[in-house]
Amino acid sequence: MMLIDCPYCGERAQAEFTYERTLDSIVSLDMPVEEVLARLFSRANPRGEDRELWRHTFGCRQWLVLRRHRRTHAIAAVDPYAPDDPE
Ligand SMILES: [Zn+2]
Repeated sequence: MMLIDCPYCGERAQAEFTYERTLDSIVSLDMPVEEVLARLFSRANPRGEDRELWRHTFGCRQWLVLRRHRRTHAIAAVDPYAPDDPE
């Protein structure tokens, strides 16, 4: 069972969390359409670590950023999500 160390709640089972998307695929309404298309359909797909947006849906309901390895699933960091943080 994979555990996620929520910064608000401590270690909890992954089943309490919901994966949303990678940080580099988040779009906003004021982006040019070319950037939106690139972010949704042409983004990097690294074989190593990536930054992902998750939510502690069945816990504190906070949005979190996980640094997770795509192949091993090892989680290097879990941080609160701040929408203005650089990717
Ligand atoms: Zn939590």
